[in-house]
Amino acid sequence: MKSAIVLGAGMVGVSTAIALRDRGWDVTLVDRKAPGLETSFGNAGIIQSEAVEPYAMPRSIGKLFEIALGRTNDVHYSFRELPFHLATLARYWWHSEGKRHRAASVAWASLIGRATATHGALIERAGADNLIRRDGFRMLYRSQSEFDVALRNAERISTTYGVPFRALSSAEMGQAEPSLIHSGIGAIHWLDPWTASDPGGLVSSYAGLFQRSGGRFVHGDAATLARKGSGWSVVTNDGVAEAEQAVFTLGPWSADVLKPFGHSFPMVQKRGYHAHYRSPHPLQVPVMDTENGYLLLPMAAGTRITTGAHLARPEAPADYGQLERAEAAARRLIDLGPRVEDKPWQGTRPCMPDMLPVIGLSQHHKGLWMNFGHGHQGFTLGPATADVLASMMAGEKPQVDMQPFRPERY
Ligand SMILES: Cc1cc2nc3c(=O)[nH]c(=O)nc-3n(C[C@H](O)[C@H](O)[C@H](O)COP(=O)(O)OP(=O)(O)OC[C@H]3O[C@@H](n4cnc5c(N)ncnc54)[C@H](O)[C@@H]3O)c2cc1C
Repeated sequence: MKSAIVLGAGMVGVSTAIALRDRGWDVTLVDRKAPGLETSFGNAGIIQSEAVEPYAMPRSIGKLFEIALGRTNDVHYSFRELPFHLATLARYWWHSEGKRHRAASVAWASLIGRATATHGALIERAGADNLIRRDGFRMLYRSQSEFDVALRNAERISTTYGVPFRALSSAEMGQAEPSLIHSGIGAIHWLDPWTASDPGGLVSSYAGLFQRSGGRFVHGDAATLARKGSGWSVVTNDGVAEAEQAVFTLGPWSADVLKPFGHSFPMVQKRGYHAHYRSPHPLQVPVMDTENGYLLLPMAAGTRITTGAHLARPEAPADYGQLERAEAAARRLIDLGPRVEDKPWQGTRPCMPDMLPVIGLSQHHKGLWMNFGHGHQGFTLGPATADVLASMMAGEKPQVDMQPFRPERY
């Protein structure tokens, strides 16, 4: 029987472990924590079938000035941190140019197009339907000029990729979401995305499916991975685990743990924060307050606010300014209620400068595979990228062109 150690039990790792198990492999899934407690826990929980183009860095001088002057809440940085990010930001900026972004979008869309179906199969098998809503999410606009631009973009996306949306007037938005105090000047309702009421809980239910299907989950440190004969070994709390192949699915930690293996992956470190609130009248579906750069999500733990990108290394101190500005704006939108936790959650999106995940075989080591760098949409893409990687590992022909995702491009 073929065997693999999968390192990291976030959405990507758990999905990868299932995809290999489904092909009859003997699979050991390793994490230092329980499954789904890091980035895949703290995100907005949207399975984003509308996100058919990866999130580019703004290139217009006006937008860059807004960010530089701190006039926007979707991106935040501090002068002290900036020098640590300039090199990767320069690469991100280069890849965000129109023609390059369009090429990346073709590759990206080939994966996003498979996201809902691959999640759907796992949700059914895991019996996790109670965690999922299938009525999309809405983007609220407060200025007519921004709404007009967004509508033109939504039309383009819809026509090019066949992703449906509905434009709502302010009155229609108010009717759809009676708890809104202020319904903006209009909204775009993306109709097809699904939302999880407990993102970490969904990963945990997938991990349960993996274990019921004969997979093994153990606690251990991925940094102990070492060559053992022609295969690999890793130290776990249950002793040393061995397998022919190893897969890195460590999300934002992947680049650091891969360094001793001769790999140098630049990652754009976009931190995000979340907090929950006991809202007396929660929203029906998630709402993005576009002008203030945050999402407001009805979740099992309360109404969750998730913030945009804070450029910060993992060791940089927390800066709750973005979350506080989002909270102030949200209090003008709904009766938000008191905060649930004393301390907000924080985590880092695993973003590559060319906006595409790293999927495939190491160019330096036999039997060392990678599946990380899913950026803003790793919760969406976990099962889809797991399926194509498992196809490659099993010697099958993946259903999408894997060239753009190959590790050796870095
Ligand atoms: C605020 C915010 C909102 C977001 N919203 C969305 C959204 O709505 N939809 C969407 O699709 N995506 C969203 N994302 C992005 C998404 O959360 C990530 O892309 C995704 O969770 C990455 O999954 P992963 O499995 O690669 O990483 P992770 O979930 O971080 O998993 C990595 C695992 O590796 C383990 N690990 C790390 N180091 C070691 C080690 N040395 N030994 C053992 N284990 C180790 C960790 O414990 C962790 O369990 C959002 C992100 C943020 C921050």
